[in-house]
Amino acid sequence: PRLTRADLDALPNYVPGRSPADLARELGLPEAIKLASNEVPYGPLPGVVEAVAEAVAGVHRYPDMGVLALRDALAERYGVDADRIATGCGSVALAEHLVRATCLPGDEVVYSWRSFEAYPIIVATSGATSVRVPNTADHGHDLSAMAAAVTDRTRLILVCNPNNPTGTSLRRAELDRFLDAVPDDVLVVLDEAYREFVTDAEVPDGLTAYGDRPNVVVLRTLSKAWGLAGLRIGFLVGQPEVAAAVRKVVTPFSTSLAAQAGALAALTQADEVRRRCALVIAERERVTEALRKRLPAGPIGGTVPESQANFVWLPLGDRSVSFAQACEARGIIVRPFAGEGVRVTIGTPAENDAFLAAAESVL
Ligand code: PMP
Repeated sequence: PRLTRADLDALPNYVPGRSPADLARELGLPEAIKLASNEVPYGPLPGVVEAVAEAVAGVHRYPDMGVLALRDALAERYGVDADRIATGCGSVALAEHLVRATCLPGDEVVYSWRSFEAYPIIVATSGATSVRVPNTADHGHDLSAMAAAVTDRTRLILVCNPNNPTGTSLRRAELDRFLDAVPDDVLVVLDEAYREFVTDAEVPDGLTAYGDRPNVVVLRTLSKAWGLAGLRIGFLVGQPEVAAAVRKVVTPFSTSLAAQAGALAALTQADEVRRRCALVIAERERVTEALRKRLPAGPIGGTVPESQANFVWLPLGDRSVSFAQACEARGIIVRPFAGEGVRVTIGTPAENDAFLAAAESVL
């Protein structure tokens, strides 16, 4: 007899990518270059490893269930009250908790597509229904179509800004219009996983621009700019009732002892984070420029959209998978989205040079 839900068969796995260690072994290289998961390549922030090591001396005890010290530190850093914050095992877990906190079976979650690959998975596994609104021709969210897709079953809208995997971003005026158009009993999640890499002043910081809107929740992660991907920690800021509801559905103690300690240490390193982000941003501009020169224009290649994140999007269409395979054969792991494009994380200058050389020989 079948023991698990049949509908799971049709769902993709999150993160289908391959391991750099396996690839290096296969190719006989000392190491492979991983430009596939939008991590920042400069190692843990100063003090993080020590703080985690110190904390793990106490692993026989549960961590603080309320995550009080960390929520206070986040509250101070972002200028909001701690009762408006919930933390989770990565922001992907918080996105899932938000679906569970808002949707009953059959309720609808609207999001743009292509966007973050976890959205369809967390919506389906939570028993809600995905309503996908196609991206615009220039790879961004179609906010008017998203507003028009709202029905009386819609409980949640996921807005990814900047958008993963295309790097496109939404500006203040269009977001204002969209938020005005959305009914006030629908929660709008601004997923700002890549906020720290935004340089365009027209792209609003959801916390300062929309913190007062009752139906807006801002989702942030410490996995990217803050360098804590391996500790699994994200947070959200919403109205106190929304944050409290999420803290109710969260898996107990899922913000681990190590995650709390590492995050507290990382948050003291804001200057270093800014410095690292500046390096990533400069490289993003350089890589974008180089790719625009090298990508064939027209229906297959098109131009590389401007990215406000720590990755770039190559709209290679049917050539996406073969391009990624050719990069892998050269020891570089990038993320293909079959039939659509390839997402390439910005690495160190040397890693980016290796990627550009590979791209040049493949394209
Ligand atoms: N949101 C977006 C848009 C992302 O790209 C990612 C990670 N790829 C996440 C959320 C989740 O990150 P994490 O769970 O590591 O916080």
